[in-house]
Amino acid sequence: MKKYLIVGAGGFIAGHLINKLQNDGNFIRAVDIKPKEFWFQRFNEPENFTLDMTKIDNCLKMTKDMDYVINLACNMGGIGFLENNKAECMVSVLINTHMLMACRENKIKKYFFSSSACAYNTELQKNADIVGLKETDAYPAMPEDGYGWEKLFSERMCRHFYEDYGLETRVARFHNIYGPLGTFDGGREKAPAALCRKVIEAKLSKKKSIDIWGDGNQTRSFLYIEDCIEAILKLFNSDFREPINIGSEEKVSINQLVDIIENISGVKLNRNYQLDKPKGVNGRSSNNDLVKKVLQWDYNYSLRDGINKTYHWIENMYKTKPNNDFIKFTRNSYN
Ligand code: NAD
Repeated sequence: MKKYLIVGAGGFIAGHLINKLQNDGNFIRAVDIKPKEFWFQRFNEPENFTLDMTKIDNCLKMTKDMDYVINLACNMGGIGFLENNKAECMVSVLINTHMLMACRENKIKKYFFSSSACAYNTELQKNADIVGLKETDAYPAMPEDGYGWEKLFSERMCRHFYEDYGLETRVARFHNIYGPLGTFDGGREKAPAALCRKVIEAKLSKKKSIDIWGDGNQTRSFLYIEDCIEAILKLFNSDFREPINIGSEEKVSINQLVDIIENISGVKLNRNYQLDKPKGVNGRSSNNDLVKKVLQWDYNYSLRDGINKTYHWIENMYKTKPNNDFIKFTRNSYN
């Protein structure tokens, strides 16, 4: 039985990953700064902890007697959160720094770090019709301010902990992961979940319009959670030590994403474009040439199929939890 420590275990991606690893018969120790009642998924394991993993003592305690560490902890959210909380985003560097130090100390066999497409050079993302970003496009460095710089710096720390101390590290650059059992309200949600929520609320309240941040022409690609989990495990079990894209190449504009959601919901709404709201870079998508080659992985879910599942999960939350009882579940409580 392999022993995994999952850091950020109360979060969206970690919840799905723990389910998969547990079903495969692994031993899991799970830790998050949030109290357990706020975890997106809960696990019947004795080893669930609520600890602040910016602290070295907690990192040392949690890594003791573990084989592998997957770090998905980060103080983050959608573009509104990232643009307004740059210092907080950068403080996440303490999680990765202290985790790497503790992994070295406790002789962990392999460490996974979740980086982001925000590590890519923003100069290359000024046009909506951008081609997919290749791994080499992170340099020369000019990542997203705050969050992106923290990710790029932490990527390099992983590299040097391997070079200097022989700690095996794996680094994924995630591109907009979405799906059920994640946040869709409260300020940290990302575009797919936020737009599903807005359409559902408009439908239920018979409103005729929704608000959209920016002009709707900015482009992105979105990866469904099941595909993401498969890619994480393929990368983790591989010998590949460089940062690598885990994303979809199905690039759409935000307006096209809204078209898909409206089509699923069966409503057509007026769009109120909020040009003063944060909208991020104009264009961003993944180039999967490298990941196809080295991991023989590519995404399976079309955006429509993934959004369909996400939409119906959020809609079900509205129907089954009266008085917005899901708010407690979907919001992070630690700040
Ligand atoms: P999430 O916010 O759902 O999960 C992160 C978890 O980390 C939260 O439960 C939070 O409570 C926990 N955390 C924060 N500070 C902590 C601390 N000091 N100690 C312990 N736990 C702490 O985010 P997610 O969407 O599951 O993302 C997981 C990882 O993937 C993050 O590193 C994120 O930056 C990265 N990523 C995600 C996406 C995406 O689209 N979801 C895209 C790019 C990168």
